[in-house]
Amino acid sequence: MVVGDIATGTDVLVIGAGPGGYVAAIRAGQLDLDVTLVEKDAYGGTCLNHGCIPSKALITATGVAHEAGNAEGMGIHADPAIDMGGMMEWKEGVVSQLTGGVEKLCKANGVNLVEGRAEFDGENRARVAHGGDGQGSESIEFEHAIVATGSRPIEIPGFEFDGEHVLSSRDALSLESVPDSLVIVGAGYIGMELAGVFAKLGTDVTVVEMLEEALTGYADDLAKPVVDTMEDLGVEIRLGEAASGWEETGNGMSVTTETEDGEETSYACEKALVAVGRQPVTDTLNLEAIGLEPDEGGFLATDDRARTDLEHVFAVGDVAGEPMLAHKGMKEGQVAAEVIAGEPSALDYQAVPAAVFTEPEIGTVGMTETEAEEAGFEPAVGQMPFRASGRALTTGHTDGFVRVVADAESGFVLGGQIVGPEASELIAEVGLAIELGATLEDVAATIHTHPTLSEAVHEAAENALGHAIHTLNR
Ligand SMILES: Cc1cc2nc3c(=O)[nH]c(=O)nc-3n(C[C@H](O)[C@H](O)[C@H](O)COP(=O)(O)OP(=O)(O)OC[C@H]3O[C@@H](n4cnc5c(N)ncnc54)[C@H](O)[C@@H]3O)c2cc1C
Repeated sequence: MVVGDIATGTDVLVIGAGPGGYVAAIRAGQLDLDVTLVEKDAYGGTCLNHGCIPSKALITATGVAHEAGNAEGMGIHADPAIDMGGMMEWKEGVVSQLTGGVEKLCKANGVNLVEGRAEFDGENRARVAHGGDGQGSESIEFEHAIVATGSRPIEIPGFEFDGEHVLSSRDALSLESVPDSLVIVGAGYIGMELAGVFAKLGTDVTVVEMLEEALTGYADDLAKPVVDTMEDLGVEIRLGEAASGWEETGNGMSVTTETEDGEETSYACEKALVAVGRQPVTDTLNLEAIGLEPDEGGFLATDDRARTDLEHVFAVGDVAGEPMLAHKGMKEGQVAAEVIAGEPSALDYQAVPAAVFTEPEIGTVGMTETEAEEAGFEPAVGQMPFRASGRALTTGHTDGFVRVVADAESGFVLGGQIVGPEASELIAEVGLAIELGATLEDVAATIHTHPTLSEAVHEAAENALGHAIHTLNR
């Protein structure tokens, strides 16, 4: 008999320890379910190891250097030297502190941790192959399964990731030296965030985007300040050009792009980073064995309880579809665990925030003015520019604004869009307002600390009500 023939049993099998999976496992543990979490790689998934956290660490570190080197206006004269090795070491320290924390929290909540790659082997059975030669496999019988296997970067034809010339975002976040020049394929949020990082490291960055706009999906007035800053940083953004191929040259590579009319342009660079989106990881799970079929995009359809077409199987995080964001996965993980434990939990996506950690940052939540109109509301909109904010002036960052969208009749806050300093943090206030069913009057009646950036949210609400003090009312 081989080890794999002996099956262990568990109430809940969670596959994947990213933000969707580890949150589901911890919550299930808190609810006294017997839970087993299988991870083939590293605790924390893409987010902690190769995504949100390392990217934000590098955004902060390069931002500190850039700020210090550009603070003459504040009477600071500095010429910071970047030690790439030291920066990467610091980033790795942040990552390992968090991944270690996830492991400890799982154990403290009674989660059984299993290292290996899981795939289904029947309706209530999975097989876990342990890593390395000769380490065998084991079978796990489960009552419920939560699929949280996340996503991987999409490759485009001719640009297979090799870690040397053609980089994925994961490769780019672990470079040991600063490339002289970089072509980034894709002007979505990952491409634009990393364009800022490398431009601040001194790399000559070109972004090529096949669509006619950068940061597609974000309103023009949100994307424009970001594009302007990128251009100030020396980033060249080429719109309407699709990367069509590349070849090695004596001192690097040459990336060719093509417009819709067939016009070709070549860009010489040391490396190319492809950031054109991510696809769900469902093809390695042997889903046929359990009787689940993903949709055309590879995603698993779920209902408002994170349940798939099968009563006993749940899917959370990136595998369960857009928006592919860590906090969306965490919420789904929590709901899946609670539903399995018999609690009346359900998903409500009315206020899923999104942030782009560029300079300036973008934060959005809920409805835009147009979406509010389309949903049948008569929107009341208020705006506050950061140039009128005392706190923004003291930080030296005055680009951008806060916009609040509400229903004119009831005053209920429906959404918000922010571009500017700390937009990723500030948007939480608008999210909370939506979640609590707060009105413009509630936000306006809330005393905000002075001088803070959050006063701009207060002021935007007052602006929508027609009685802003520090800006002209529309
Ligand atoms: C560069 C970058 C920056 C990002 N920045 C942000 C951000 O600022 N904010 C934000 O909200 N989101 C951000 N994201 C997206 C975020 O990382 C994902 O939305 C999030 O990680 C999804 O969580 P998940 O749990 O669904 O999957 P993942 O985090 O992808 O975790 C899935 C886990 O499952 C494991 N796994 C897969 N198959 C198996 C198997 N068969 N057996 C066992 N284990 C398996 C994987 O090894 C992995 O650890 C970023 C992504 C990238 C790439």
